[in-house]
Amino acid sequence: MDNKEIKDKIILLRNEISQHNYNYYVLSKPTINDKEYDFLLKELEILEKQYPEYNDELSPTQRVGSDLNKKFSSEKHVFQMYSLPNIYSKNEFLDFDNRIKKEIGGNFEYVCELKFDGVAISVTYINGKYTKALTRGNGIIGDNVTANIKTINSIPLMLNKGNFPKHFEIKGEVILSKDNFQQINKDREDIGDIPFANPRNVASGTIKLLDPSIVAKRKLDCFFYYIQSNDIKLDSHFEMLKEAKNWGFNVSDFIAKCENIENVFEFIEYWNTKRHELPYDIDGIVIKINSLKIQNELGFTAKNPKWAIAYKYQAEKANTKLMSVDFQVGRTGAVTPVANLEHVFLAGTTVKRATLHNIENINKLNLHINDEVIIEKGGEIIPKIIEVDASKRTPNAIKVKFINNCPECNSKLIQKEGESIIYCPNEKHCPPQVKAKLEHFVSKKAMNIEGIGYETIELLYDANLIKRIDDFFKITKEQIIQLERIAEKSANNIINNIEKSKNVPFERVVFAIGIRYVGEVASKKLAYYFKNIDNIMNASREELLAVDEIGDKIADSIIAFFNDFDNITVIKNLMDNKLQFAIIDNANSAAKTNILEKKSFVISGVFNKFSREQIKQIIEQNGGKNSSSVTSKTNYLIAGNEPGPSKITKAKALNIQIITEDDFVKMIMQK
Ligand code: NAD
Repeated sequence: MDNKEIKDKIILLRNEISQHNYNYYVLSKPTINDKEYDFLLKELEILEKQYPEYNDELSPTQRVGSDLNKKFSSEKHVFQMYSLPNIYSKNEFLDFDNRIKKEIGGNFEYVCELKFDGVAISVTYINGKYTKALTRGNGIIGDNVTANIKTINSIPLMLNKGNFPKHFEIKGEVILSKDNFQQINKDREDIGDIPFANPRNVASGTIKLLDPSIVAKRKLDCFFYYIQSNDIKLDSHFEMLKEAKNWGFNVSDFIAKCENIENVFEFIEYWNTKRHELPYDIDGIVIKINSLKIQNELGFTAKNPKWAIAYKYQAEKANTKLMSVDFQVGRTGAVTPVANLEHVFLAGTTVKRATLHNIENINKLNLHINDEVIIEKGGEIIPKIIEVDASKRTPNAIKVKFINNCPECNSKLIQKEGESIIYCPNEKHCPPQVKAKLEHFVSKKAMNIEGIGYETIELLYDANLIKRIDDFFKITKEQIIQLERIAEKSANNIINNIEKSKNVPFERVVFAIGIRYVGEVASKKLAYYFKNIDNIMNASREELLAVDEIGDKIADSIIAFFNDFDNITVIKNLMDNKLQFAIIDNANSAAKTNILEKKSFVISGVFNKFSREQIKQIIEQNGGKNSSSVTSKTNYLIAGNEPGPSKITKAKALNIQIITEDDFVKMIMQK
């Protein structure tokens, strides 16, 4: 390459990497995998080292990838935030160890920690009080996400034990557990949204949401791993972590002090196999020098500490054979190709199937039946095919092609413009789509009709008894008993539970009727804003958009739903069956009772269903007493979103019951 070509190549790589940084850190939607990204970065690093004349302090090799987002106000970090140099082999670790030994001489210890796969956060405590949380941003300034991070239950709002510095910053990783990730995806699929790719992307997207009450619902967690302060009086990193735990922070139990390199390698090996058993994702091990004095001596580069390194695990791979491809129709009508594989053991489980994602991926892989393929289990839960060994393909092998018609109802499949997903458009009659709607309707967060699970829905559907949600209110006990495996007692229960569901409040009915993209939160917002179904049905696009959390996609979907005559018929039938299609104004209708007599309440925070004044009114109407501060005489603290930290701490110290708005509503409803 001549000089111009080299310069062009460097600029091209810088632009490409910057775009990937934006996709990953700001949009939380990477378009390449981490290894491909690391490869591009390494390529750039090598070129910059060879040709220092093209050095630029704005190069992505010199700065941490920025997550700054215009929606938030940003602030300067008191202590800069860094990334970590990545290695993939033990030899690279030996190089690192030699470099340090040369620089400082003598012996030193390492500390090994899990490398949590989430998003970095820096939290400031002043006089033991949770004061501020900033994202890493560009390392120098970060976005202020104090209200969002406060919703993470394990983060202490007030420290009340230990000898913590007056002012300190604690750095940690916000993560989402695998279980919560799966639940969030299930909820998304329920309302017709595309599932998220992996827990890291959800954690990263969630801390940048504008409504802390939605953040709270995602149930994030946070592990802390580093304290910075001008008056830390400790000698080692290990002690520092122990202290942080003692002050009340969530510090991992899986930390090892290693006296030699063998111990470091043992830790790496151990977690390479055991990591799959953890309830959250890790993508490697972080190895740090234990002595804080040596850490200070070594200091930092513009991007990384010189005293720590991340050993990244390779995504685990296996070779196997493609036997056939199934096309599955999901609850939203999206048709997903799934590869059936010759069984193979990978990352702790036997893999029989792998996702092929979409038509573009099938075409990119140029798959043929009986191909030898390489599968990989990365951050995602389901393995995927990443490579095909075309050299082993027989000449007459059959090429995998995407189907044209729905495998369930034979409708012609469609692809929406600009999307890679192919859909079955027959949402009213395609069996898996219809059953999914029925299942959603009876689910716990919707009408909560106990006794009807997926299997019962299959039976009811196959027997032609239930094809639409309003059919639940037509069915008789005699019809249910006739179904296979359903005894009289269960049939009675089902009928009683259907009847009981008529009391389910309006906001859950809005959720249950299954408007695409209208999830639990949007349903609540619509219900409380418009008060009844007529108002929602007649709302213009502008009126819908005026509601918090309702954007273009949801507004269009609501309008399309109520423009459909069949949906109107269903709603009318549900109304005839006396389901709740309006908000019950509990504040005014709450009859006067003595149910809260001799009970003293303190309320704190912002509530979803009632204003603070309404809650106070209900307390008084029912014989209770309101008080503005928590004392030993307080019986309950009702905590809404963002409750006052001092009230919470005091209530905990005095062992006073802290209840949610929903708990309070249940208490009142007992009358
Ligand atoms: P990193 O994730 O490789 O490592 C640094 C981070 O590790 C720290 O900021 C901290 O948040 C985290 N961490 C977790 N556990 C820790 C512990 N116990 N101690 C200390 N730190 C801990 O670095 P990065 O700068 O956040 O991200 C770079 C990496 O992100 C790349 O190597 C790549 O894998 C990925 N990435 C991917 C894309 C893409 O398009 N796929 C784009 C940008 C970045």
